[in-house]
Amino acid sequence: AKEQGRNRWSFYSHSLSKAATERLDLEHDLRAALTAQQFELYYQPKVAASDGRITGVEALIRWNRPDHGLIPPDRFIPLAEQLGLIVEMGDWVIEQACRQMAAWASEGMLVSIAVNLSPAQLSHPSLIDRVATLIKAYSIRPGMLHMEVTESMMLNDPEEAIKHLQALRDLGVTLSIDDFGTGYSSMAYLKRLPVNKIKLDRSFIQQIASDPREADLCAGIIALAHKLGLGVVAEGVETQEQQQILTGMECDVFQGYLFSKPMQVAAATEYLSAPRGA
Ligand code: C2E
Ligand code: CA
Ligand code: CA
Ligand code: CA
Repeated sequence: AKEQGRNRWSFYSHSLSKAATERLDLEHDLRAALTAQQFELYYQPKVAASDGRITGVEALIRWNRPDHGLIPPDRFIPLAEQLGLIVEMGDWVIEQACRQMAAWASEGMLVSIAVNLSPAQLSHPSLIDRVATLIKAYSIRPGMLHMEVTESMMLNDPEEAIKHLQALRDLGVTLSIDDFGTGYSSMAYLKRLPVNKIKLDRSFIQQIASDPREADLCAGIIALAHKLGLGVVAEGVETQEQQQILTGMECDVFQGYLFSKPMQVAAATEYLSAPRGA
């Protein structure tokens, strides 16, 4: 029994230290990734419900980690937030998006780009000045720069969050509430938030074809948003059935694999320049 116990201990201690080592490696690599230019933006189109035109794209970050391949954001954004790297990383994302918008504009493609903002970025004191500077430097029409924030930004200091959102609105930036409906305070805050749009969370969209109550809820949220003067984007649209149901609910914009997965810049450029629409 004693022997067994010792073996078990050495097994756990070995696997623990392996996990700890991997975590340290990950941290180390993530800290170096920005300077090493290992991040890349992928772009996923958003499509107008009315005529199929592309209304813009969402920029989604990927990490080309050496010897590990392409790492999706869910696997490093939370760590970047913990390590305090998110502000610098997010700043790179915003500048890269502005640069890409300017590049597309110079080829005659006026495309809005949406970037995702972490709560720490929104509350960072230099964000507003920085965004103003980038809009100027890249000659961006401010409304073409979209920023997506989640309701978690309201957890810490709601008044401060609203103040920062208002300052971005004052610059002319277009604002969306991302993953709408997943935070418990959505409805209560919606009226007070200086935003232009909501993005219905994919978890709703997945169920609207199979669950009538979920569909009712979705229709209700869309009607409410419209009453408040807000546009509605459905994320994670994967089937034509979902598209039809959402069209019936007068949802304004679709985003999802039914239209396209997120693409590297070359493929996105090709997609954007292809003729389409009604
Ligand atoms: P999100 O902002 O809700 O982005 C939508 C996610 O859903 C993306 O995953 C996208 O690839 C995926 N998606 C889009 N359409 C479909 C679909 O039809 N079916 C399915 N199954 N998935 C779909 P991705 O790119 O892995 O990003 C995950 C999350 O990482 C994002 O969720 C966002 O919260 C975060 N993120 C991505 N880029 C950034 C960034 O630059 N900064 C920050 N702070 N967060 C980011
Ligand atoms: Ca988003
Ligand atoms: Ca989302
Ligand atoms: Ca999400």
